[in-house]
Amino acid sequence: MAESVISVNGLRKSYGKLEAVRGIDLEVAGGEIFAFLGPNGAGKTTTVEILEGYRKPSAGKVSVLDSNPADAGRAWRQRIGVVLQDCNLQPELTVRESLELYAGYYEAPRSVDETIELVGLMDQCDQRARRLSGGQQRRLDVGLALVGDPELLFLDEPTTGFDPSARRQAWEVIANLRELGKTVFLTTHYMDEAQALADRVAIIAAGEIVAEGAPGELGGRDAAALISFRLPSGVGAGELPREVAAALGGAGTPHPNGRVQLRTDEPVSILNALTSWALARDLELAGLEVRRPSLEDVYLELTAE
Ligand code: ATP
Repeated sequence: MAESVISVNGLRKSYGKLEAVRGIDLEVAGGEIFAFLGPNGAGKTTTVEILEGYRKPSAGKVSVLDSNPADAGRAWRQRIGVVLQDCNLQPELTVRESLELYAGYYEAPRSVDETIELVGLMDQCDQRARRLSGGQQRRLDVGLALVGDPELLFLDEPTTGFDPSARRQAWEVIANLRELGKTVFLTTHYMDEAQALADRVAIIAAGEIVAEGAPGELGGRDAAALISFRLPSGVGAGELPREVAAALGGAGTPHPNGRVQLRTDEPVSILNALTSWALARDLELAGLEVRRPSLEDVYLELTAE
């Protein structure tokens, strides 16, 4: 594994009596796209702003690019790029002028032309920021963070409010960063975004990390299957075979439309029990479906509280 760019041990942050972050550990390797997911109020912004050096932890150890962000200086800040949720553009400057202005703040900036190309604003380079569409403004935002040629980029919900095609274009920009060997720490509420972009994902809920891993393996979903079907009319969940009822566990109450869903690591034997039971009774199982849990299914399970 490449060297850690972000390393967090036992991080805690309290606001008065509220413990917003409760002892989390995180490692992000160089060149990785890391997605940080969690419901509203889970502690994402608190954590990210500590990593960016804008808030101080209450306890724990934080290292970002080998420095403690709380007391890192200007040279360290030149090595990171931050794209916040709100655009912070100068409305009267053109795309090129904005990038030239920001490039001037850095000792070794990326070329402005290259940056324009990287974020796909070649056709808008002489347009004023206020005349750009929302998606184009967001791209300029990313461009402003990239023009300093940072090693590590924090992207806070980079595609919120985008139409589907603008989102796909933004994903391309982010995927380009991987090609450049940048490390990206991404916060998002979109599971498909994390699935498409991230090498690794961590889910935070109520200040604690509840799962971490590759998006395809999170929460054991690579081994799990979701089986769903509608109970035939006049048949109660209590009549299902024992193995199926056991797999239903506490979640065995069918949906009002009779739909039953269960999660299992042994889909073959559960399906065998279920279909044998149905055949023996000459019942149809309408809408019978077997699928892998999506990242969103796992996320909803883990953050249900
Ligand atoms: P969202 O997805 O809504 O942006 P989040 O995961 O980023 O949420 P945080 O902003 O880190 O969550 O907030 C975590 C908890 O800490 C929340 O209960 C919030 O009300 C509280 N909190 C955040 N900042 C402060 C602050 N400056 N003072 C007091 N409480 C705060």
